[in-house]
Amino acid sequence: MATVTESFVDGESVGAKETYENVDPSNGQVLGEVARGGAEDIDRAVAAARRANRTWRATTPEQRSALLCRLADLIERDVEPLARLESEDTGKPLSQARNDARVCGRYFRFYGHAIDSYYGLSLQLRPDLHAYTRREPHGVTGHIVAWNYPLQLFARGVAPAVATGNCSVVKPADETPRTAVAVAALAREAGFPPGVINVVTGLGPEAGAALSAHPGTDHLGFVGSTRIGALVAASAAERVSPVMLELGGKSAHLVFADADVEKAARVAASAILQNAGQTCSAGSRVLVHESVHAEVVERIAGHFAKVSIGRGLDDPDLGPLVSRKQQDRVRGYVDAVGTGELLAGGAIAEPDGITGGAYFAPTLIDGVDPAAPIAQEEIFGPILTTMRFATEEEAVALANGTDYALLGAVWTRDLSRAHRLAAEIEAGQVYVNTYGAGGGVELPFGGFRKSGYGREKGVEALDAYTATKTVVVQL
Ligand code: NAD
Repeated sequence: MATVTESFVDGESVGAKETYENVDPSNGQVLGEVARGGAEDIDRAVAAARRANRTWRATTPEQRSALLCRLADLIERDVEPLARLESEDTGKPLSQARNDARVCGRYFRFYGHAIDSYYGLSLQLRPDLHAYTRREPHGVTGHIVAWNYPLQLFARGVAPAVATGNCSVVKPADETPRTAVAVAALAREAGFPPGVINVVTGLGPEAGAALSAHPGTDHLGFVGSTRIGALVAASAAERVSPVMLELGGKSAHLVFADADVEKAARVAASAILQNAGQTCSAGSRVLVHESVHAEVVERIAGHFAKVSIGRGLDDPDLGPLVSRKQQDRVRGYVDAVGTGELLAGGAIAEPDGITGGAYFAPTLIDGVDPAAPIAQEEIFGPILTTMRFATEEEAVALANGTDYALLGAVWTRDLSRAHRLAAEIEAGQVYVNTYGAGGGVELPFGGFRKSGYGREKGVEALDAYTATKTVVVQL
């Protein structure tokens, strides 16, 4: 009998009347069934979170810190099984899934430590007035997340939310529900009271839409596409609920003539291969000064030629995309490239004769039209486009010339140029002579324009999951 992944609500597993199939992207086979939660399940989860919040918000930071750190220990204990589930659901190479599981644990430990030293302000207004601020939890936080980094995205929202005294309801992505449910169960084992962390599995237009419209949530965090993010924000706006949107990207590497071009090419190639390019902060455009353009492009093509492709669990360099639907989408962009020279890949792949998988070869296209969809829109695949520039101004204009503004990287040995461009590039994070694709747990992360608003990660997330109350006392 096929296994069924169930929701985890109020401390227990909850089935649903209907299920849908969880498909293995490496071969198209069915991995199991998933409970197709709907409005009733979201209702139940929000009610459980609200009940739990009455006592949870009154716990001390020390108590919450201990639980978050205990959960981090359990996640570390279970890195291997969590990584295997993650690799199967997403198709990502096992070593990348292991890293994601460790980072998931690290989020809980980081916020477990951070909450112990999260202070308000004391305001010296007048000798006879005592004024201070308190950082108060919103109450119930809803989290709707994407399929590309399920473990990391779960922890990135839930860890700071519960650390600051909120209770959470998570709707994982349709394709990748299993690790969210597993971590919610680990939270119970760690000693979190029932209802503090709830997960409702299901489909976006059903469970997702029900969560974003639910009047019982006090804050929504959304990680996903710009189109759905706008829908979620509109739904939240109707009941004046705060929202944080972490959306797509079309980030650029800017490689100047004085750069370490060998390193720039190597890092740009490996960054777009990570998670098969399905990373919001993937550097999907490489803008190269005309004097080193030929060398950089040749080096990237050389890296792509050596890539091993296969099933995530076999830990190749490149696994399948998350689904055949995503494979079709990627192929659509490559087929419609217009101008540009195809230097590597360009087609679906069938490693070791596996049929039914969602593989796509690492693809390098040089000289694309900067206005073409392939250079403007987020593709979410192992597709790199390269363009050349002559001047710094031209490079910045190209980098800033899409609707997105998530990340950027400057490759140069000129310190002044590095800092000048760090300011001029419109992005939530800028890297110089390195590329972090979202960076670590500690680094504030988020976008401008169509890449969204609000910041997660780092200590800034503590502010995001709380609201300031000012208290003034006449002495
Ligand atoms: P998506 O927008 O299709 O789905 C995201 C989530 O929204 C899923 O859980 C889905 O079930 C849910 N959803 C779908 N329809 C909904 C609706 N009508 N109402 C409420 N919820 C709904 O995105 P995706 O394809 O799963 O993920 C890929 C996108 O996520 C890319 O654009 C990527 O850039 C973005 N992303 C951004 C970040 C970031 O931090 N900026 C991180 C990871 C992924």
